[in-house]
Amino acid sequence: MSPRGWAVLTLGVLVVALVLAAALLIPWNRPPAPRADQLAALGELPTEQVARGREFRAALRPGTWTALAVGLLVALALGLTPLGGRLVELAGRPFGGHWAAQAVFGGLAVVLVADLVTLPFAAWRQSVLTRYGLSTNGWGGWAVDLLKSYAVSAVIGAVALLGFYTVIRLAPRWWWAFGAAGAAGLVVLLSFVLPVLVEPVFNRFTPMEQGPLRTELTAMAARDGVPVRDVLVADASRRTRAVNAYVSGLGPTRRVVVYDTLLREATPAEVTAVVAHELGHAKDSDVAVGTLTGALGAGAAVVALYLLGSSRPLLRLADVDSVAQPRAFPLLLALVTVAGLVSAPVQALMSRRVEARADAHALALTGDPAAFEAMQRRLAGINLADPDPPRWEYLYSASHPSTVERIAAARAHARELGR
Ligand SMILES: [Zn+2]
Repeated sequence: MSPRGWAVLTLGVLVVALVLAAALLIPWNRPPAPRADQLAALGELPTEQVARGREFRAALRPGTWTALAVGLLVALALGLTPLGGRLVELAGRPFGGHWAAQAVFGGLAVVLVADLVTLPFAAWRQSVLTRYGLSTNGWGGWAVDLLKSYAVSAVIGAVALLGFYTVIRLAPRWWWAFGAAGAAGLVVLLSFVLPVLVEPVFNRFTPMEQGPLRTELTAMAARDGVPVRDVLVADASRRTRAVNAYVSGLGPTRRVVVYDTLLREATPAEVTAVVAHELGHAKDSDVAVGTLTGALGAGAAVVALYLLGSSRPLLRLADVDSVAQPRAFPLLLALVTVAGLVSAPVQALMSRRVEARADAHALALTGDPAAFEAMQRRLAGINLADPDPPRWEYLYSASHPSTVERIAAARAHARELGR
């Protein structure tokens, strides 16, 4: 069988594995609470809070969607015309057009152009956040954050680009196989190292200070049978008033992180409800499941790019001879951009189901649906959430169930408890 035949077979196997992993590991049988309960919850939220959340989200919306559209158009313009290839050549020229220079500097230049084009929308978003009092870091802090994230992406991107095009040169016929393994490996590696190498670039993390709350949280984790080494506090208040918590890392790097803003704004019972939700993620290995599906998806993407990228019409549009050239990188980026936009609703749906399971875990673990509901109200109020966002936007991009869904789920749980 030819390398192409093997690639088709490999892609088939990866897609089946991905579908199986998603089918078996995502809690699909967890439909949202009945709509009537959601509407009842919505009716009880303060009208002012709902209106302000909606106003804020409406103010963000034009910028968010225009940025997506512009990002897509630029990716297509660079990838499906000779423009991107020329940019790659230009970036490699000071180095005599060496392939490694084209691969790294050309690749980064293409990504940078796409970022710069959407920069005005990012700035607009920051201005809206400031106007509504959510942002606390000012333009200086915003710019520093932006430069830091460019630097982090450049380092990770340079390693990935150099690795990718080195493999292509070493194995011109089988690079897709090594590339797929490498991409999957990179996803796993990043899950391990992001919390210890990248997150500290943006925030300071300190162990939660000793006290009744910490004792309570540690006892709860022990009761839950979840090995969590520490609860860390992030100095999120340096850039936002928003409250949040998350779990990241794998194995030795796993940690539960709460924003300092959450500790400042919420009652201890509400913080406990939030951490119980995060323990649910830890207990169900949601980071590991996300890493596994991400790794399978990345591997499948590389093989699919190899197969799609050998399509004559696409190569002709990009004015390249082969997808294996650094000059074809903009074409690959265009295909990845389209795939990302198309798969966003599926990713959002999987995320919402996983989040709903973590909510159920929190309710069962704390046995305190009232605190859970209070926490949801507070989260929505401070973060200026739309408690019941427009359906299309929810389906396309909501990573979490809506506030009214989460409150309705808490009430359903309370009814089960007979309260
Ligand atoms: Zn969560």
